Amino acid sequence: MSNDQSAMNELHWLIDMVQTIEVGLVVLDKNYNIQLWNGFMENHSGISPNAIKGKNLFEQQPDLPAEWLKQKMESVFLLKNRTFISWEQRPYVFKFKNYRPITGRADYMYQNITLLPLASLTGQITHISIIVYDVTDVAVNKMQLKSMNQQLEEVSQTDGLTQLHNRRHWQECMDREFERNQRYQDQATLVMIDIDHFKTINDKFGHPAGDKVIQHIAHLIKQSLRETDCAGRYGGEEFAIVLPKTTSADALFFTERLRKKIEQSEIIFENRIIKVTVSLGISEIGSSTENSSVWLSSADKALYQAKKNGRNQSYVYDATTDDKA
Ligand code: GH3
Ligand code: MG
Ligand code: MG
Repeated sequence: MSNDQSAMNELHWLIDMVQTIEVGLVVLDKNYNIQLWNGFMENHSGISPNAIKGKNLFEQQPDLPAEWLKQKMESVFLLKNRTFISWEQRPYVFKFKNYRPITGRADYMYQNITLLPLASLTGQITHISIIVYDVTDVAVNKMQLKSMNQQLEEVSQTDGLTQLHNRRHWQECMDREFERNQRYQDQATLVMIDIDHFKTINDKFGHPAGDKVIQHIAHLIKQSLRETDCAGRYGGEEFAIVLPKTTSADALFFTERLRKKIEQSEIIFENRIIKVTVSLGISEIGSSTENSSVWLSSADKALYQAKKNGRNQSYVYDATTDDKA
C-alpha cells in the first residue's frame, strides 16, 4: 500500500470517527460559516450536515448567545489560543434538549466547550473549531451534591424541635456579632429567655405538652425578629437572641412586647389550656464586656435577676452594680 493510500485510509477513518464520536464538532471560517457539523451535532440539533454546510452559524442557530460567543471567538482568532467555557460559567451554549434517562431532571444538555483555533498549511488561523462535550451527568451530580450539602448544613445548624438555630450555631452567630461590634464600635444587645416554672408544666401536663410549649414560644420569638436578629434554642427551655444595632433600651421594648405576647397567649394541648410566662435577661455590649463569654454571662446574670425579682419580667444588666467577685 502506498503512502498516499494509507494517508487516504487514515483520513477516512478519521472522518468516520468524527461523525460518530459522542462529542460535538463544528468548524467555522472567519465569517462563522459552517464547514463541518458532525453526527453529534446532527443528532442533537436535528439539522443534517448537508443542510447546514456553508451557512452562517448564528443565522442557523438563533438561540446561541451570539454577541458573547463572537467575542470569545474573536479572541481565539486574535490570540491563537484555545478557550474553554465551563458549564458552571454558562450551563450550555447550544440549546439541546436533554434526553438522558438517568439525568432526566435536566431540561437541557449541560456543556463544556472548547474553542480551538485551526491553522492553515501556511500557519494562519483561518478557521475555528467548536468542541462540545455533554457534561449533563457531571453537572446534575454536582448540583445535587451541592444542594444536599446545603440541606445537611442547614440541618446541622438547626434545632429539630423549634427550627431555631441550635446552640452551637447560635454561639457562632454571637461570636461573629461580638467581633463585628469590636471592629465597628456599634451597638448590640443579647437577650436570654427562660420559661418560668417549666418543670411544673412538664409535671402537670406531661413532657409532650412541655415540648409543645417550647415550640409555641419559639414561634412567637420568630414572629418578633428582624431579618438581622439571630435567635437560637440555647438549652432545654432557654432561648437566646442577638440583636445587632440595638441598645439595651430598645431591646427592653422588644422583650416587653414579646413577654406580654407570651403571657397573653395560650397553648391548647389535648383540650387543656396551658398558660406560660417567661423571664428575660438583657445585656448590651459595653466597655467592660471583654469578650463574648462575658457578654453571655452578663445576660445570664440579668436573667437570674429577673427570676429573683419574681419572674415574668425583663431585667437589664447593669455593670456598675454587678458583683465581679
Ligand atoms: P424557673 O422559673 O426557675 O426557670 O423554673 P423551671 O421549672 O423552668 O426550672 P428550670 O429552668 O431549671 O427547669 C428546666 C426544666 O425543663 C427541666 C427539664 O425537665 C425541662 N426540659 C428541658 N428540656 C426540655 C425539653 O426539651 N422538653 C421538655 N418537655 N422539657 C424540657
Ligand atoms: Mg432553665
Ligand atoms: Mg425555666
